[in-house]
Amino acid sequence: MSSVACIFCRIIKGEIPSIKLFESEKTLAFLDINPLSKGHSLIIPKYHGKHITDIPDDHLLEVLSVTKRIARAVGAENFNVLQNNGRIAHQMVDHVHFHMIPKPNEEEGLGIGWPMQ
Ligand code: 5GP
Repeated sequence: MSSVACIFCRIIKGEIPSIKLFESEKTLAFLDINPLSKGHSLIIPKYHGKHITDIPDDHLLEVLSVTKRIARAVGAENFNVLQNNGRIAHQMVDHVHFHMIPKPNEEEGLGIGWPMQ
């Protein structure tokens, strides 16, 4: 199930480029185009749904499991996992996604620019 107008469905299909970190039958993880910190990643079900309540449990559970693995893979020790539902809750892309946002220590700074730097 996908939507032709959805940016994230187009990323899944490869119509829009992304820096992919993990892909399986049900799940895709890629770097956020506008990172809040080094390693800011998005983990999404391939199943298209706007809100978390639209997503079947098996897809959702795999997304959570991959979120954990992505945090480990990018070496995040301190991080936030964030998932917005609806405009008032700051959801801008209408395809369920989990943000994994590392919180670097003060010496590291935000590190924005990774992986280019
Ligand atoms: P939201 O506010 O919906 O929870 O967050 C959407 C996120 O998707 C934002 O952090 C934004 O930077 C990211 N984003 C939007 N469009 C694209 C895109 O085309 N590619 C990638 N990699 N990230 C995107």
